[in-house]
Formats: sequence, C-alpha cells, structure tokens
Amino acid sequence: MGLLVECPECKKRNSQKVKACKCGFVLAKFSGRVWRIDRIILP
Ligand SMILES: [Zn+2]
Repeated sequence: MGLLVECPECKKRNSQKVKACKCGFVLAKFSGRVWRIDRIILP
C-alpha cells in the first residue's frame, strides 16, 4: 500500500516522491493533485 499522485496529463500514477511525471508534467507545482491510495489485495 502506497500513496500515489495521478498525473492529470497521462493519468499515470506516480510515487509521491516523484516531482515530475515521465510525460514531462511537473507534479510538484500542480496544486490539484489527485491522490491515490493503492492497496495490494492478496487473493
Ligand atoms: Zn504524466
């Protein structure tokens, strides 16, 4: 389980430690961040 930030450009979920997405979008400057909490559900 980890806290992730969803990129508004490419919808990729990045680690909260990542300041910029791979697509070039700077997540650190974006205020309307969408936080995602990922849960690993074991079968
Ligand atoms: Zn992106």
